[in-house]
Amino acid sequence: MSDDPRSRAICILGATGSIGASTLDVASRLGIPVHAVTAHSKVAELARDAVASKARVAVIGDPARLDELRRALDGSGVRAEAGPEALCAAACAPEVGAVVTAIVGAAGLPATVAAARAGKRLCIANKEPLVMAGPLVMAAAKAAGGAVLPVDSEHSAIFQCLEGHRPDEVTEILLTSSGGPFRTVQDLSAVTVEQALKHPTWSMGPKITIDSATLMNKSLELIEAQVLFGIGAERVRILVHPQSVVHSMVSFRDGSVMAQLGRPDMRTPIQYALTWPSHLSGPVEAPDFARLGSLTFEDPDRRRFPSIDLAYHAARLGGLAPAVMNAANEVAVAAFLAGRARFLDIFATVERALGQLSNVSDPSLDEIVDADLSTRRRYA
Ligand code: NDP
Ligand code: MG
Repeated sequence: MSDDPRSRAICILGATGSIGASTLDVASRLGIPVHAVTAHSKVAELARDAVASKARVAVIGDPARLDELRRALDGSGVRAEAGPEALCAAACAPEVGAVVTAIVGAAGLPATVAAARAGKRLCIANKEPLVMAGPLVMAAAKAAGGAVLPVDSEHSAIFQCLEGHRPDEVTEILLTSSGGPFRTVQDLSAVTVEQALKHPTWSMGPKITIDSATLMNKSLELIEAQVLFGIGAERVRILVHPQSVVHSMVSFRDGSVMAQLGRPDMRTPIQYALTWPSHLSGPVEAPDFARLGSLTFEDPDRRRFPSIDLAYHAARLGGLAPAVMNAANEVAVAAFLAGRARFLDIFATVERALGQLSNVSDPSLDEIVDADLSTRRRYA
C-alpha cells in the first residue's frame, strides 16, 4: 500500500466525540477520504459529520435510532446502519485502510478487535480496549499484518522516541502527566463534578477528563504503554509535567534521553498515526520555545492519588486485573458524573474490585468480557 495517506480511506469510530472531531479536521485538511463515521446516540451530529466528510456509511450504535438516522440522511447518498455488528462491519469494510478508534470506554472493544483481525492500520485513541485485552489485540493485529499506531499523545511521543531502537536499549519510559486540576489541592474529599471537569491544559470528552483529575488516566496509560511497547510497567515511570509540552520521554542505557514535544493539540498525534512514517504539514505549529517559560517535572503524589499504585498493582497481577480495574473505574466515573458518588469513591471502588478479583492468566476474550460485565454489575 502506498505511503500516501490519501490512498487509504478511513473509518472513524466515535466521530461525534472530541477525538472524532479532531480526526475529521485532520482528514479534511489532508484530503484523506472518509469511508465511515459512527456514533452512539447523537443522530443529528452523526448525520452532519457524515455529509460534511462525504462518508459512504454512517453507523449509529443504538439500533433504536436507525429510522431517525435514515430520516436525517435522506437524499444525502450516505447509507445509514445501526447496532454493534454494523460498527464492526464499518471498521472491517474492504475500502477501509485505517481505523481511528475514538469510542469511549470498553464499548469500543468489539470493533477494535474486529479491525485488528481485519489487518487495518489501527490508530488507537480508545485506550480502554488495550487495557482490557492488550495482548489479544496486539496478537490479532500482528497475525493479520496490520500496524498499531498510538493516538494517545504520550504513547505517540514514546512511539516516536523508540523508532529505530530495540526494547533492550531502553532503561525507562518517562510517561508524563499534567497532574490534572487537583495537582495542588490537598483535600479531595469535597471536589465537585464541575471542578473535576475543568482540565488545565487539554479539552476532552467528560470520561477522560475525570480520569485525568483522578490520574486514573495515567493508570490506564501505564498499562497501555506496557501493551504497546512490550516494556514492563516497572520500567515505566510516571512524571508530572504541568505544562503538557513534553508529551513523554524515553531514557536509554547510555544515559541519553529522547523526548517528543508539541502543543497540547490532539490533531498532532492523530495526524501522525494516519501519516506514519511521514510527518506531513498540518494545522498545528511547533511551540515557540522563547515564549514557553519554564518546563517543570515532579513525582506524582501517590498518597492523594492512589490510582498510581493501583495501576502498578494491576499490571503486576496481569490476567484479568487490568480489565477489572478499567470496568470498576468506568462505573465509578459514571456514578460520580451522575452525582451518585463522591470523587474519592472512584479510588475506593477500583481498590475493592482489585481486592476481590479472582484472576486467571492469559484470559480469552470471552473471559475478559465476562470479567468486565460482572465487575460492572457488582460495583455499579
Ligand atoms: P467523547 O466522549 O468526546 O466521544 C466519545 C465517542 O464515542 C462519541 O462519538 C460517542 O457517540 C461514542 N460512544 C460513546 N459510547 C458509545 C457506545 N456505547 N458505543 C459506540 N459508541 C459510543 O470521548 P473522547 O473523544 O474524549 O475520547 C474517546 C477515546 O479517546 C477515549 O477512550 C479516551 O480515553 C481517548 N483519548 C481521548 C483524548 C482526548 O483528547 N479527548 C486524548 C487521548 C485519548 P455519541 O456522541 O453519540 O455519544
Ligand atoms: Mg494521554
